[in-house]
Amino acid sequence: MAQPPPDVREDDCLPEYRHLFCPDLLRDKVAFITGGGSGIGFRIAEIFMRHGCHTVIASRSLPRVSMAARKLAAATGQRCLPLSLDVRAPLAIMAAVEQALKEFGKIDILINCAAGNFLCPASALSSNAFKTVMDIDTLGTFNVSRVLYEKFFHDHGGVIVNITATLGTRGQVLQVHAGSAKAAVDAMTRHLAVEWGPQNIRVNSLAPGPISGTEGFRRLACFRSLSMWLCEDVIHLLKLLSIPSQQTSPQPASKLFTGLWKPGLPQTPLSCLLLDLEAGVPG
Ligand code: NAP
Repeated sequence: MAQPPPDVREDDCLPEYRHLFCPDLLRDKVAFITGGGSGIGFRIAEIFMRHGCHTVIASRSLPRVSMAARKLAAATGQRCLPLSLDVRAPLAIMAAVEQALKEFGKIDILINCAAGNFLCPASALSSNAFKTVMDIDTLGTFNVSRVLYEKFFHDHGGVIVNITATLGTRGQVLQVHAGSAKAAVDAMTRHLAVEWGPQNIRVNSLAPGPISGTEGFRRLACFRSLSMWLCEDVIHLLKLLSIPSQQTSPQPASKLFTGLWKPGLPQTPLSCLLLDLEAGVPG
């Protein structure tokens, strides 16, 4: 069986790519990818293009998407149109979608990948900072989906994939803004899938865990070492306290260390704690 391609740390194309899927799986399709100039969006664009897709990559920085488009086109031989837009600005999205339609005549796939994130304790997070992440991740996803719907998908059908994150499904420290925004996108995905599905528009979300070599991972990576440190430290503490490892109901000690009790999960102080610490990596 074919192996996954080797990892690349920066926003460069893969040095080699062995097809996991049929080489012309997406031949002559057109994908509009927000945040396609870097990280996960860049790699999605590359893999799509290696399977015959043309792409539009859009984000705020025109130099960034222009450089990415040159790399992508050179590595894959497909066309890549770089466009500048802010997903918070519906008029700019409309202009970009019109330009993409003028260039390619259609859009088959929308990937909502643009997002913003940073680490911040809830107690220090201003409403404005929270709102900014909601505006980019959640409202931005809605804005672009709605414009694409109006300008093309309504009449021709299409596919929408929203990139969310595993942190949207469980509590995690320093990420209340991103977790809330991604959870809202997951909910939006379900609503749009129900409402637009009958019009031949498939809407799904994809929630990656931490992905190395991306800006998101670099920005949040320090948290992994913090959680490892906490993990070792608290395990040591648990040993000192001699808390039995096979308790079947939540104990005060688990609440002390985790701040949470998760109904329905097997509960021991240690498992409870490890689950929370494991959840503490970016993603
Ligand atoms: P990234 O490289 O920083 O990608 C974010 C992209 O969004 C950038 O290209 C940025 O370009 C664009 N962007 C930000 N604000 C924008 C705005 N207002 N309008 C338009 N574009 C905007 O980060 P990444 O880590 O690859 O993340 C990509 C996606 O995967 C995100 O949705 C993230 O939440 C998700 N994710 C990442 C990880 C991970 O480990 N990296 C894990 C789970 C989920 P400009 O600055 O040019 O606008």
